[in-house]
This record gives sequence, C-alpha cells and structure tokens, in this order.
Amino acid sequence: MIDVAVLGAGAVGLWLAGELRLGGASVVLIEQALERSPHSRGLNIHARTLEVLDMRGMADVHVSEGRAVPTAHFAALSARLDMSVLSSRFPFMLVLPQVRTEELFAERAVAMGAELRRGHHVTDVDQDDGGVDFAVDGPDGSYVERSRFVLGVTGLGVPSGRRRESHSMAMERLVRR
Ligand SMILES: Cc1cc2nc3c(=O)[nH]c(=O)nc-3n(C[C@H](O)[C@H](O)[C@H](O)COP(=O)(O)OP(=O)(O)OC[C@H]3O[C@@H](n4cnc5c(N)ncnc54)[C@H](O)[C@@H]3O)c2cc1C
Repeated sequence: MIDVAVLGAGAVGLWLAGELRLGGASVVLIEQALERSPHSRGLNIHARTLEVLDMRGMADVHVSEGRAVPTAHFAALSARLDMSVLSSRFPFMLVLPQVRTEELFAERAVAMGAELRRGHHVTDVDQDDGGVDFAVDGPDGSYVERSRFVLGVTGLGVPSGRRRESHSMAMERLVRR
C-alpha cells in the first residue's frame, strides 16, 4: 500500500511530496491537469521561504534564475518595504514566476522517487481505521486506490459544481473522523 497519496500537484503538493520522500514515505501525486498551466499566479518569494528552500539545497537555483528586489510595495500600503535590512542570507524579495518554482519542485519530487500522475481527477476519498480509499477518474478510466494517508492540497482549483460538491464532501468526511 502507498504511504501517502498527495491529492493536487500545485506548489504545496509538489513540495510536500519531496519532503515525504525525504522522510522515506512512498508517495503518489494525483493531479487532474494534464499539463502545468504556463500562467503564474505567484511571482514573489520572500526571505523566509528562501531560507527554507536553502535547507534543502534549493535556494541557489531559484536565486540564480530570479530577480532580487531589495524593496517592494505590498498591497495598498503606501510605504515600500525594505528587505535589505533583513538579517538573512537573502535580504531581498525574489521575483520568479510560480510556474518555474513548480517545475523545480516537480523535478525534485520525481527525482526523489514520487510518482506523479497527471490527468487524474480525484472524485472521492473515504477513510477507515486502516487507511484511505481515494477514487480517481484517470485517462484510462476510473479506479479506486488505497493509501495509508492522503493529503488534500487541491487549492481552489475545483473545475465544476459537481466535482466541488463531491470533493468537498469527501474532505469534510475526512475532517470529521
Ligand atoms: C493573483 C495571485 C497572486 C499570487 N501571488 C503570490 C506570490 O507572489 N507569492 C506567493 O508565494 N504566492 C502567491 N500567490 C499564492 C499562490 O499562488 C498559492 O498560495 C499557491 O498556488 C497555492 O498552492 P497549492 O498547491 O496549495 O494550490 P494550487 O496551486 O491551486 O494547486 C492545486 C492543484 O490541485 C489540483 N486539483 C484540484 N482539484 C483536484 C482534484 N479533484 N483532483 C486532482 N487534482 C486536483 C489543481 O489542478 C492544482 O494543480 C498568489 C495567488 C494569486 C491568486
């Protein structure tokens, strides 16, 4: 049986998959999208995140590909935030499109042994004392698989009312137990 099924291969799921592999868990990532969107929501990575990436040897590649910005505005604040005064190896905000961060996280997770299944849409999860059954609509049809744990990291990316209902109902069941 798989140790952990990570439902959703966005930034969070991809990062967690690598962390779980580091801890020795077997991991399958289930992602409904066949391909990663070329559009980025996030662009900005702050110092603390870079410090965490640095703990895994991942900061330098981000910094080398991104653009370091020492001061920036945030939301509607009138003052600029001065990151250059931070006592950090990374006294700046890094600008790097989220799509690239996700590529780097995906490469890491897969290189560490996580299985990434794209085009697989999770429709339900059902937990009992021994593990979790998760139901999936995949490219070759529907299937149910079992893992010891699931991590639901599907963000807000739920494509239709029917799926939203079935997915959130399943997640609610998990939370209640
Ligand atoms: C306009 C905007 C600007 C932002 N700017 C920044 C920024 O500058 N810096 C920053 O750090 N963050 C920023 N963010 C936040 C950042 O984009 C999110 O925090 C991040 O994408 C969350 O990642 P996630 O993995 O939780 O969710 P997502 O990125 O939404 O990933 C969830 C994944 O789950 C998949 N999924 C959903 N339902 C199912 C299902 N039923 N079965 C299988 N797969 C499923 C989706 O296809 C998707 O790939 C911004 C967000 C927005 C909207």
